[in-house]
Amino acid sequence: MTTQAVTLIIDGCAVATVDADGTEYRSGHVLLYGNRIGVVGAGPAPDLGPGVRRIDGTGCLLTPGLVNTHHHLYQWITRGLAPDHTLFEWLTTLYPIWAGIDEDAVRVAATGGLASLARSGCTTTTDHHYVFPREGGDLLGAEIAAAADIGLRFHPCRGSMDLGKSKGGLPPDDVVESLDAILAASADAIDRWHDPSFDSMLRIALAPCSPFSVTPELLRESATLARESGVRLHTHLAETLDEEDFCQQSFGCSPAQYMEQLGWLGPDVWYAHGIHFDDAAIASIAASRTGIAHCPTSNARIGAGIARTADLLAAGVPVGLGVDGAASNESSSMLEEPRNALLLARAHGGPRALTTRKALAMATIGGARVLGRDAELGSIEPGKLADLALWRLDTPAHAGIDDPVAALILGARPPLAALIVNGREVVTDDAMRTIDESEVGRQVARAQAALVAKAG
Ligand code: ZN
Repeated sequence: MTTQAVTLIIDGCAVATVDADGTEYRSGHVLLYGNRIGVVGAGPAPDLGPGVRRIDGTGCLLTPGLVNTHHHLYQWITRGLAPDHTLFEWLTTLYPIWAGIDEDAVRVAATGGLASLARSGCTTTTDHHYVFPREGGDLLGAEIAAAADIGLRFHPCRGSMDLGKSKGGLPPDDVVESLDAILAASADAIDRWHDPSFDSMLRIALAPCSPFSVTPELLRESATLARESGVRLHTHLAETLDEEDFCQQSFGCSPAQYMEQLGWLGPDVWYAHGIHFDDAAIASIAASRTGIAHCPTSNARIGAGIARTADLLAAGVPVGLGVDGAASNESSSMLEEPRNALLLARAHGGPRALTTRKALAMATIGGARVLGRDAELGSIEPGKLADLALWRLDTPAHAGIDDPVAALILGARPPLAALIVNGREVVTDDAMRTIDESEVGRQVARAQAALVAKAG
C-alpha cells in the first residue's frame, strides 16, 4: 500500500461489511483507493498525514450502498393518484396521464426520484421505463442524463408494451409500440449506452412490461436480443391475482409457467414482485438462479399480497429489494424497503421469518446478485467498488439503540453523514452535493401540474 493511493479515509464508525461471513466492527475504518475499496478493518485508520481527506465516522454506521432493483422513475410526477385502487384500476387511471410524458418531464421526474434514492442510502439503481409516447423524444436518454447529474450507478431497462386494448391487453393502444420499433430501440439503447466493464456506471437491460401488456413474440424476441448482446432481462411477474387470472384465461397456465415456456428463466433474468408463486415455481426459479426484486412497500400500498421471501431465500433464490414506481410508493425511500420487508415477512411468517442482517443483506449484496454485480458491489471488501453509506446514529432518534444494524433497520431513517458512489461524495451531512434540491422540488411541482393538465 502506498499513501499516494489512498484518496479517502473513513474511521471511528461501526462497520457492517455484509461480506459472506457477516463481518462487523464495533469501531472500524475503511480506506478508499479512488473508486475502489482498499482496506477495511477494526480500530482507527493508520496515520497517513494531512494530505488525505478523512471523514470522522464517530457515532455512525458504515454499510455498503443500497441497491434498488426495481423502479419507474417517470412516475415521480404522477404520485398520489388513484391512492385507494387495485393494480388494474390504478394502471387504467394512470395510462392516459403517462401518455403525455416527454423528455423534459422524464428528466425532471428522474432527477426527483434519484435524489430521493440517494438521500435514503441508495448508490445503485435500476429503472424500468416502458411508456414511450410517439412524440415523447429520447426518454431513456433523459433519465440517463439525470442519473449522471445526480451521480448514481444506473441500470436503466429499456421497457416496452406491444399488447394494446384492441388486442386483448390492458393498456390503451396509444401507449403501446410495434414489435419492430421496440426491438430497434432496444438494440440502439444497448449500442449507445451499455458498458459491461467492472467499474460500469451504466448497464442496459431489456424489459417487456408484464404478461398483460406484451405479446409472447416480444418476450421471445427480447430474450434472444438480450442474450446475443450480453445484457439482462427484467419484467413484472406474479404481482396480483388479477394477473394470475389473466394468464390462466389467455394462456391456460400460471404467470411463472408462461415465462418458463418463453425462455424467461435463468441467471440473466430478474422478476419484479414474484408474490403469487407456488412451490413448483419457487423450485424452478431457484434451480435456474433467476432473481427476484421484492418490493414490499409497493406490494402493501397496492394490496397485491406478501411475497414468500423466507421460502425464496431458503431455496437459494437471489432476492434484492426495490422501491417500485413512485406512483405506488410515494416515498420511494430505499431504506424503507429492508424495514418493510422484515415487517411483512414477520407479520406473515412469524418472528424468525427474516432477521435484521438478512434484511440488510437483501438491500445490498442481494440486490447486487440480482443485477449480476456481486463481484463488484454490495459488500465492503477490498477490491470492490467504493459505494458506501455512512449513517448518523448519534441523534436522539437512534442514540442508545444497542445494535447499530438494528437501529438502522428498525429505527427511523437516520441522517446520512455521507453517501459515496464510485469513490465520489454524492451526499454530505444529509444534503445532496450534486444538485440544488429546492430547485428540483420546484421543477417537479411544475412538471406534475403540466402533465396532469395535459391529460385534461
Ligand atoms: Zn413496477
